Amino acid sequence: TASPSSAYPYRLRLPGPITIPERIRQATARSIVNHRGPEMRVILEEIQQWIKPLFGTTAPVLTFGSSGTGVMEASLANVLAPGEKVLALVHGQFGERYAQIARALGAEVDVIESEWGWTPDPAVIAAKLDKNDYRALVAVHNESSTGAVTDLAAIGALLRDRDTLLLVDSVSGLGGLELRQDEWGVDIIVTGSQKALMCPPGLGFASVSEKARKVIERDDRCARFYLDMRKALAVVDKHETAFTCPVSLLFGVHEALTMIHEEGLPQVFARHKRLSDAMRAGCVALGLPAFGDQATASHTVVVASVPEPLTGGAIVKHMYETYNTAIAGARNKLTGRVIRIGTMGLISEADVLTDLYFLERSLTALGHAVPTPGCGVAAAVASLS
Ligand code: PLP
Repeated sequence: TASPSSAYPYRLRLPGPITIPERIRQATARSIVNHRGPEMRVILEEIQQWIKPLFGTTAPVLTFGSSGTGVMEASLANVLAPGEKVLALVHGQFGERYAQIARALGAEVDVIESEWGWTPDPAVIAAKLDKNDYRALVAVHNESSTGAVTDLAAIGALLRDRDTLLLVDSVSGLGGLELRQDEWGVDIIVTGSQKALMCPPGLGFASVSEKARKVIERDDRCARFYLDMRKALAVVDKHETAFTCPVSLLFGVHEALTMIHEEGLPQVFARHKRLSDAMRAGCVALGLPAFGDQATASHTVVVASVPEPLTGGAIVKHMYETYNTAIAGARNKLTGRVIRIGTMGLISEADVLTDLYFLERSLTALGHAVPTPGCGVAAAVASLS
């Protein structure tokens, strides 16, 4: 394998982890403090206050030292008793993972599978709910493997008068896509630090509704210790964590939330939409049609189809080796068929235009004739203006 060209600076353009803005990187480098001392309590209190609008909730937000998958597991381990039933919505890799976690915890799992790239019809979900007694419905808000965004309001409305809890993976959505947990009736939303929260990997967050809390506090749930939300809920109002918290990462999240609120949350969401629209327009112009249902297309990741005989892997390899730019392919049933580029975090028009320029050069080098030189960049510029 050739090594990346040193003529270009390294560019991390995955749908997470993402490039960490310098302000945040500096914040994570601060000297650490007593994890239960007054300085840390201020940090935790401000994070609690500032992160809630990103979830759209007034419910407590719990902090865990784990990646996104760890908090997905926590959401289930705290509400399930072995043998209880779970309904999983699966239309991509992370929906599959949520279902696998539920099975690993001993749940009986029913799956509503829809075509990858398309989200399920609420009527199909309603029919399933009418016939079964589910402890939880698990859904992925922003399916990073396909770029499809689930209509959580519609699903929440189906569960409002039922005991079933709505558990949501918004690992790659929160901070880039609007969430209204309380209004939509979502019970637990989990996320990770390394996506639109612009931090290094390693921190997980979970917001817990009152309805979920009643179930979590029962003693007959699955075995849980480190991920036991009862322990976290007992200290969250004192601005503490049950176990030693990742102090440096929390400094980073504190800075990230400061930046998000300085820009303004509506402005952050609008910027994600504008840039992802431009990226998608550029890919389409280069002959890489947007993958999946465009009515539900993500603003934090652009998933583009790769025409044969090209493969996603070849494009990813060329972008890295020639332009020192890391984009993603797929490691699932879409392997070879798509490329994925992150449009989350602190990115600008310059990042999108650079990606599209390198992408055009890579496609051309791989033998794919683009309609006219510069057409990807031109389409993005047209979209931006
Ligand atoms: N869910 C979604 C939608 C994701 O994009 C990811 C990571 O890419 C995960 C879950 C898993 O998170 P982690 O890799 O942090 O465990």
